[in-house]
Amino acid sequence: MASERKINFAAGPAKLPEEVLLKMQEEQLNYNNLGVSVIEMSHRSKEFGALLNETIALIRELMNVPDNFEILFMQGGGSGQFAAIPLNLKGNHEHADYIVTGAWSSKAAEEAAKYIKVKKVFTPAKPYVTVPDQEKWVHDEKAAYLYYCANETVHGIEFTPSSPESHDVPLVADVSSNFMARPFDFKDHGVVFGGAQKNLGAAGLTIVIVRKDLIGKQQDVTPAVFSYKEMIANNSLYNTPPTGGIYTTNLVLKWIKAKGGLQAIYELNLKKSGLIYGIIDNSNGFYHCAVDKRYRSIMNVCFRIGGAAGNEELEEKFIKGAVERNMISLKGHRSVGGIRASLYNAITLEETQILATWMLEFEKLYANQ
Ligand SMILES: *Cc1c(COP(=O)(O)O)cnc(C)c1O
Repeated sequence: MASERKINFAAGPAKLPEEVLLKMQEEQLNYNNLGVSVIEMSHRSKEFGALLNETIALIRELMNVPDNFEILFMQGGGSGQFAAIPLNLKGNHEHADYIVTGAWSSKAAEEAAKYIKVKKVFTPAKPYVTVPDQEKWVHDEKAAYLYYCANETVHGIEFTPSSPESHDVPLVADVSSNFMARPFDFKDHGVVFGGAQKNLGAAGLTIVIVRKDLIGKQQDVTPAVFSYKEMIANNSLYNTPPTGGIYTTNLVLKWIKAKGGLQAIYELNLKKSGLIYGIIDNSNGFYHCAVDKRYRSIMNVCFRIGGAAGNEELEEKFIKGAVERNMISLKGHRSVGGIRASLYNAITLEETQILATWMLEFEKLYANQ
């Protein structure tokens, strides 16, 4: 069984912990002695209600979500929230401020512009490799919110160690690809959202954490399924929620808790990413990560092989050799090229070490040719 499993470095949907998959298998035909699986149950049943509330409570506990925030289960993915954010937060404001540090925040700004005037706090500089100095940002307190992407999945850029300075405007954070990868500080935040399929479960579930005082500012045209107010009034049961997705996330949250919670998970993530970045930095430029060291992602490690510009032939060889060693989905995003190793929570230190071993072996084979 274990030998059939690939080491899956996919950027999302991504690897789930084996313990979670086995539990799902065990409960597939008969959940909790009810004689049906979770995905066959009514979302209005007492049993599903208990599962839903337990899942909300686990998110609150693990992330230390303050009492003045509501936790919602929605659909439409992170991309759906790109529209839902301005549809819910515009209120009487004219505009929203956007921090664009990569592909995802760029997409978010583009989508939001359909529903609110979007101002970028600096002109995005491509290629995306850093977060420009905060002192030079131009934004103001009249904005409905200040938007940022906590981890740019395509470019491997993560806001660290803290979130942007918001000057009393509610921060909106897209945490799709570093959800519960590290402890999270809700200070200054108004909305924190992400799809579950990178770190917390299956595609189809979008988790949205909203500060209560921001509820009720939705636009008249806001679809009910995208309305935070409507969703909160119905405890995320306005319509049929992604029941299977909520169940999967419930199991992943229990797994995180059993691992010791977010601090323990974070320390492990630092070790994993540190191992790979260490090899990159010690390779005399054979491996090259373009991202500013202060903002290197602990989730998505992006690098080129054969120098800064990348040697596509070598990169192809690297990926082929990785597949022969049971490792899959290491190809960088098509817009960036090179290699991307996504080291989400479910990736173990041992799996990361197998990648590290292959990187060292490959360097020996090809670095001095
Ligand atoms: C994957 C991702 C998204 C998009 O998620 P969908 O669920 O496909 O809409 C948005 N933001 C970030 C940072 C992502 O990694």
